[in-house]
Amino acid sequence: MSTFGPDTLPLGVFRRGDEQPRVGAALGEQVIDLTSLGLSDTFAQPTLNAFLALGRPAWTAIRAELLELVRSDAVEPHLIPQSAVTMLLPFEVADYVDFYASEQHATNLGRLFRPDAEPLLPNWKHLPVGYHGRAGTVVASGTDIVRPSGQRKAPDAAVPTYGPSQRLDIEVELGYVVGSPSTLGKPVPVEDFREHVYGVVLVNDWSARDIQGWEYVPLGPFLGKSFATSISPWVVSLDALEAATVPLPKQDPQVLPYLDSPDLVNYDITFEVRINGHLVSTPPYRDIYWSPAQMLAHMTVNGASVRTGDLYASGTVSGTERDQLGSLIELTKAGREPITVDGKDYTFLQDGDEVSITARAGDLDLGEVTGRITSAVS
Ligand code: CA
Repeated sequence: MSTFGPDTLPLGVFRRGDEQPRVGAALGEQVIDLTSLGLSDTFAQPTLNAFLALGRPAWTAIRAELLELVRSDAVEPHLIPQSAVTMLLPFEVADYVDFYASEQHATNLGRLFRPDAEPLLPNWKHLPVGYHGRAGTVVASGTDIVRPSGQRKAPDAAVPTYGPSQRLDIEVELGYVVGSPSTLGKPVPVEDFREHVYGVVLVNDWSARDIQGWEYVPLGPFLGKSFATSISPWVVSLDALEAATVPLPKQDPQVLPYLDSPDLVNYDITFEVRINGHLVSTPPYRDIYWSPAQMLAHMTVNGASVRTGDLYASGTVSGTERDQLGSLIELTKAGREPITVDGKDYTFLQDGDEVSITARAGDLDLGEVTGRITSAVS
């Protein structure tokens, strides 16, 4: 359970018993049922999409009113214990894009996947590299993850084989939730990031490394990624995240004008990754190379529009230290150097394992995304 402070007020969709799913805000170990506070009709919906479509002025005004109600204890009669509700997928995901914005992660994976070449490809510092993922398989935290099967080929094998992935992995990421849509044909400038993006969720981009390694050239990730992506149930607004803002690390070489702005920011967030309750890594977000405003500007620079409910994720967050890596392929050097989990050698995910990713930005709790691996379907 996440225990959010009184200033965070993340929004999510909950269900109590057989009642209609509806929107709530988290407060400590409680959920504030927002449907009867008169703040917005959109809270009586089974997803956040109608609220997300209202746009920045309404988001900020409603949050200010809610903060006021919380401070005056007027929410008291509307509190439900989090333990009495089930949290659902917070919004209907429209499109899903996944970036690759951590220099450390891109370098580590370049070395593992292409040991004989420069780890960073020539485009990496000129544009935020990304791909379009599968929106329909973005699932709520707590959803079981069925081990995927597919084609994989060992480097020394002549032909591929089919079967359950033997190298099932996690990717620790931050996801940005789009509220206000943009217009087809019109790029979104970096300055308009806050106008379109409502807030963030924690993301676990489950990855089957053996399937990925065989399929990804030349068109990028496909079935090694699309089987499931888990997100946290509580969406934390950019307004709440404001206190965690830090300047974006210097970019060299200079980026093209459409990606440039003197006001680019990043967020000082630290993740904690646990497998079966044991802490295995603490990836730091603050050194991510590309800002979320640049990711949004880049994914629309060709005129592609964004929609309410679009999700774009940062890509795996990895720091420079061994205990700051955001995937098992990095933590174990592609399985060659096992880590220790609960006193045992550990490389990739086993059936029954439960992964929990939590994050904090100083005093601000950003919640949790969990998932348990179940055996492959035969
Ligand atoms: Ca990813």
